[in-house]
Amino acid sequence: MTGINESIKSVLKRSHLAAQLSKKNIGQEIRIIGWVEDFRDIGKLGFIMLRDTSGLVQCVLLGKILLDARNIPRQSNVSISGIVQDTKSKNFEVELKVDGMTVLSAATLSLPIDPTGRVESNLDTRLDNRALDLRNSRVLNIFLMRSGILRTIREFFFQNGFTEVNTPKIIGSASEGGSNLFSFEYFKRKGYLAQSPQLYKEQLVLSLERVFEIGPYFRAENSHTLRHLNEFQSVDLEAAYLDYSEVMDLIEELVKKILTFAGHSGKTNNDNNHIYNSTIFDNLVHQPFRRITYEECIDELNNLGERVEFGDDLTDLSLKKLGEKFDKFYFITDWPLALKPFYIHENDDNPLLSKSFDLQFGYLELVSGGTRQHDVSKLKARLKDQGLSLEGFSNHLKAFEWGMPPHSGCGLGLDRLLMVLMGENNIRETVLYPRDTVRISP
Ligand code: ATP
Ligand code: MG
Repeated sequence: MTGINESIKSVLKRSHLAAQLSKKNIGQEIRIIGWVEDFRDIGKLGFIMLRDTSGLVQCVLLGKILLDARNIPRQSNVSISGIVQDTKSKNFEVELKVDGMTVLSAATLSLPIDPTGRVESNLDTRLDNRALDLRNSRVLNIFLMRSGILRTIREFFFQNGFTEVNTPKIIGSASEGGSNLFSFEYFKRKGYLAQSPQLYKEQLVLSLERVFEIGPYFRAENSHTLRHLNEFQSVDLEAAYLDYSEVMDLIEELVKKILTFAGHSGKTNNDNNHIYNSTIFDNLVHQPFRRITYEECIDELNNLGERVEFGDDLTDLSLKKLGEKFDKFYFITDWPLALKPFYIHENDDNPLLSKSFDLQFGYLELVSGGTRQHDVSKLKARLKDQGLSLEGFSNHLKAFEWGMPPHSGCGLGLDRLLMVLMGENNIRETVLYPRDTVRISP
């Protein structure tokens, strides 16, 4: 290797991340790499605020290096070496006195958005330039949190004896009935994008007992709300020998684990631009989530002056009213069977009701789940009741004749959970590249 290559290699090796620097490092020669967020020039002295994924470092520049720095556009990617020293700044524990600087990749002078957020851009412009938008620490924190939550979810499932599975997203027939499927040409026949892994995860219980999947749902719904996308991520579980109340127990435990994780890791970088509100959530870890039956909700709504009858679905307005009354996390249980898909089990005492639940956060539905019907003759009757063809489900139904254990499960909308935790009211903020009725790129 030539000397030049060696020196290029060495400028690509950082010794520290921004957030790792502390008073302990004073006097050490170190190397950091990141993006020039800001440059302040006060004549004989200049300051670069260098950002990496962990946070910011204040870099002090003098002499020739200061002259060179005047030509570096903001957001350029640079490698900086220097000596760590004490600082007068209130925002930092230490600063870096720069002795070497290499521009790895210069940014253009006219950026489409200002990642510092000082010049505000609307959400559409930010999403059009999402990769750059992520240099904003508030935005970055959402996705660092999302990644940490995904790890927490996986750990939780493995600790509870679940196997992670991946089921196909290209399917040959409408999986749950329903008309909101995207279809496309698949080698001279029709293919569809899966609206959920429901049928597959139930079939897998036959041999794996406990499965979970984290993957996309596709819904061809023409919704224009702040909580619906046409592609979103769901955390699905299905478990043999549990009933719906035990699945509620599991989901409650999982959500509390996530809250605990978020509370600990809340301060994900060192510039305090952090929006997880632990004061709201820390308390919730220690109290049980309320469980309210659908019928209690109907009574409550009538008390609040809404005219709702047994059998009505809960409208946006009803959910808003319930959300004001019950606040934070609560379950709505025992929905009318007629409102539920064919695979949901009826209530043993009252066949008009079902063994089902939703987890809500205020007005927002986060999870739907229930005990599944595993008696194949009842399953067939339910399919007929809902006007679905047995033929179309023959592949699925045969698994129920091979010793299918009684089972229950649910699906949790990951992007919606992130909205709740990060205090966002638009789901587009919690998805890297959201897909809605008008947005299909980038
Ligand atoms: P909603 O009534 O809010 O439209 P749903 O009852 O149709 O939701 P489910 O089929 O129960 O949704 O899906 C499971 C979970 O996936 C929901 O509880 C929710 O958290 C999430 N989810 C459903 N639809 C969407 C969507 N279009 N965009 C984002 N998340 C969604
Ligand atoms: Mg639902």
